[in-house]
Amino acid sequence: MLRFDIITIFPDMFAPILNESILKRAQEKKKVAIHIHDLRDYADDKKHRKVDDRPFGGGPGMLMMPQPLFDAIKAIKGRRKVHVIYTSPAGKPFSQNHAKRLTRLKNLIIICGHYEGIDERVREHLVDEEISVGDYVLTGGELPAMLITDAVTRLIPGVLGKKESLVSESFEGNLLEGPQYTRPANFRGKKVPPVLLSGNHKTIEIWRKSQALTKTKKVRPDLLEKKNKGASNDGNES
Ligand code: SAM
Repeated sequence: MLRFDIITIFPDMFAPILNESILKRAQEKKKVAIHIHDLRDYADDKKHRKVDDRPFGGGPGMLMMPQPLFDAIKAIKGRRKVHVIYTSPAGKPFSQNHAKRLTRLKNLIIICGHYEGIDERVREHLVDEEISVGDYVLTGGELPAMLITDAVTRLIPGVLGKKESLVSESFEGNLLEGPQYTRPANFRGKKVPPVLLSGNHKTIEIWRKSQALTKTKKVRPDLLEKKNKGASNDGNES
């Protein structure tokens, strides 16, 4: 079982995501355990539960102080071997292969940053990797932490049912998924490509592959370049 420990100053943000759908089922099936920790519970300042302070040298905004994060991680980690992730726009871009690699671990701590981010000493001494969910800046690390938890969890064997197969998904083999259709075959005059109704599995497979290629070429030519070079979709071997 993969255990996630998420450190946040907004613990209530997580319940709606964790208590629905596949993430809920994955926890019930004991494929994952997801624990949410309020960083303020670890603040030395018990009265104000303060976790942030002004940056040395000046500059806008506040930074998350080292003390609550050091103490939270020490307490949560205990004697376990844990991989600590800090969600950060300055991190390595998250990808499907990155998610696959994380499924091989047993214990993940995810730090959700806020304000202008965290004191650098937390990065230096506690964080194993920084992950960015895209080239944009969010208000906090909660959405990235949920996104990482979701992407990793659904890849754990036994989490998805047959209905939600991982085969031929986007990013498998550096291709995006091509178009898909369901009933009716003719919706208000808009028809499904006849090949999909042919019953000929081989022809359907060839059509799907060519559609995936066309779409990837149009939307994400960078993936095709990686495909041709034989690299995985984050540039690393998976
Ligand atoms: N001052 C920081 C910078 O320029 O890199 C941005 C801080 S941001 C306002 C607050 C927090 O949101 C960050 O500490 C991080 O945890 C989270 N965050 C924002 N954008 C993110 C992204 N693209 N990927 C992952 N985490 C992000």
